[in-house]
Amino acid sequence: MRIVFIGPPGAGKGTQAERMIDRFGITHLSTGDMLRAARQAKTEVGCKADEYMSAGQLVPDDIILAVIADRLTQDDCQGGYLLDGFPRTLGQAEALDRMLVQQQTPLDVVLELQVAEDELFSRLAGRGRADDKPEVIRQRLVAYRQQTQPLLEFYGKQGLLVSIDGLGTPEDIFERITAALDALEQD
Ligand code: AMP
Repeated sequence: MRIVFIGPPGAGKGTQAERMIDRFGITHLSTGDMLRAARQAKTEVGCKADEYMSAGQLVPDDIILAVIADRLTQDDCQGGYLLDGFPRTLGQAEALDRMLVQQQTPLDVVLELQVAEDELFSRLAGRGRADDKPEVIRQRLVAYRQQTQPLLEFYGKQGLLVSIDGLGTPEDIFERITAALDALEQD
């Protein structure tokens, strides 16, 4: 299965992503994790990305696309993958579509994890990551609203979007996700 996982920062995507890859045996591709690793290793990409990440802004599309394009063609992606945190802009989504058409590997589903903004703010503020300072959190939520939310309509029009209520225990939410994915597999 090829899945795109969309949700605002703090929605619990990381936790659910871990469960999904175990359950469905697919590869977890988190652009946030890739960028943090690059930043840690002080690569050129990592240093460039750091300026944006520290400010709560999205890293420019050309950097992200270079990181992900390579990754999608690797062996461990051939059995399916979960894209977590990518695409995040319409430009990225369109570029992904072009790559997948070329590789003849269409997406199966786009899962949206829905959580209201005031709930997100208090969750993020309690997390303690470097980009979880209040002003940075605010900026990340703005980036989501302005740049990523339009993807919901984009994928809705393609008939790929399934929205999941992200309130409840991790177990409740995982059950909703697996029910939605099981229903797809039976189609
Ligand atoms: P995440 O762990 O997915 O919340 O990502 C952390 C940070 O990495 C984001 O706030 C962005 O600065 C950057 N980032 C991760 N994925 C992307 C993406 N697809 N496009 C642009 N920036 C990204």
